[in-house]
Amino acid sequence: MNLILLGPPGSGKGTQAGILSTRTGWNDLGTGDLLRRLVREGNEKALLAKSYMEKGELVPDTLMVELLFAESGDLGDGLILDGFPRTLNQADTLTQRMRARNLTLDAVLLIDVSDQEVERRLLQRSACSTCGKIFNQKLVVCPACGAQIETRTDDNAETIRKRLQVYHQQTDPLVTYYQQQGLLRRICGEGTIDEISRRIRQALGIA
Ligand code: ADP
Ligand code: ZN
Repeated sequence: MNLILLGPPGSGKGTQAGILSTRTGWNDLGTGDLLRRLVREGNEKALLAKSYMEKGELVPDTLMVELLFAESGDLGDGLILDGFPRTLNQADTLTQRMRARNLTLDAVLLIDVSDQEVERRLLQRSACSTCGKIFNQKLVVCPACGAQIETRTDDNAETIRKRLQVYHQQTDPLVTYYQQQGLLRRICGEGTIDEISRRIRQALGIA
């Protein structure tokens, strides 16, 4: 099964992709985490992406596609895409690449969370820039790896508003795009992590 998780920043896509991946063994491909890892590793192309990420803007399509497909070269069936596609252009590229590899897209899950809830969540979370884990409270030391925690540079009020604006402008159109293909399934993203993960499994018929 191959699927896309769609939803605003802070909707819990990454968390849910991780849970689903553990349960099913499908590959979890989170583009935000991928980009941050490549930046940490000093990847030259990723460093070009860094300034966009810090501003809360999307990395330009060509660069994004290049970085993603260089890293996911031989990914086969059993894929959870979290954070890609985010523009119609990226969605078209994905459709073509999947077709070329004889892969089918089985579902697009839209995790619905209000803008107000997004702002609340992002302002109170901390993300470890050493191991990449995200926690739903402000922490000083990472419980996972012990490193000092710095707030993600894009988790400040101004950049959060920008990311939401970018989401509505560039990613909202994907809802219609996948609705027309009969692939879209809407999931309420407010509730506990467990509740949402159950809703996701229900929507996929793997409860
Ligand atoms: P969030 O979804 O919380 O905004 P992510 O960790 O998924 O955060 O992504 C962080 C940043 O990485 C985005 O703001 C954007 O700059 C960049 N990014 C991630 N995925 C994409 C994509 N598919 N296209 C362009 N930029 C992307
Ligand atoms: Zn850590």
